[in-house]
Amino acid sequence: MAQSKLILIGAPGSGKGTQAQRVAEWLHVPHISTGDILREAVKSRSELGKKAEPIMASGALVPDDLMVGIIGERLEQPDAKGGFILDGFPRTVHQAEKLDRLVEGNGNGALRVIHLLVPDEVIVRRVTSRRLCSKCGAIYNTEHSRPKVEGVCDRCGAALVARPDDVESAVKKRLDAFHQQTMPVVEHYRSKNLLKVVDGNGPVDQVFERLEASIR
Ligand code: AMP
Repeated sequence: MAQSKLILIGAPGSGKGTQAQRVAEWLHVPHISTGDILREAVKSRSELGKKAEPIMASGALVPDDLMVGIIGERLEQPDAKGGFILDGFPRTVHQAEKLDRLVEGNGNGALRVIHLLVPDEVIVRRVTSRRLCSKCGAIYNTEHSRPKVEGVCDRCGAALVARPDDVESAVKKRLDAFHQQTMPVVEHYRSKNLLKVVDGNGPVDQVFERLEASIR
């Protein structure tokens, strides 16, 4: 197996969170989701959380300097030394350049980047049917990834909720942010020959198989 420093890039609702969880379990690397880190910060009412909450609810991006600080600290943790899968970072070219330097500094080989490609019209439908565990962050979908008991997390038994930024107005803004700020990150890694594109349309298991094949 090639070394596992992976970045999964995808529009909001592309399934990147669900797939990143599965890839992390498969490769035994930590799943590092900056969205999850920020949602935890909001829940705990930390300074970071108070700053991030209104920005996230509007669908805009949290400033780069905050995000680069968060990811720098997280990648310093011992569990990330042998590899990781990043979900939701980098989202701007500036973040990507900072990450490239961090990873080069570790001297453990190059990143591999996957763009999970899903058409916009599929995205809006998926996002509005998404549910999240209020405790452990596990992801469900009222259309195709239902929990065993409605409204209850299979993993930890806590209540499932909709994300406050999954309302239609915020989804549109998040999609705009993706096209304007994150697609240039895709181009950044394409030009470095680190990019693979995987079709993210279809059932979760089928998409995971495509990802497996592209990572192997
Ligand atoms: P996600 O769970 O990845 O969809 O992230 C939810 C929200 O958190 C985004 O819409 C942003 O407001 C914020 N966020 C997460 N990751 C980043 C990042 N790398 N840069 C800026 N904002 C971020």
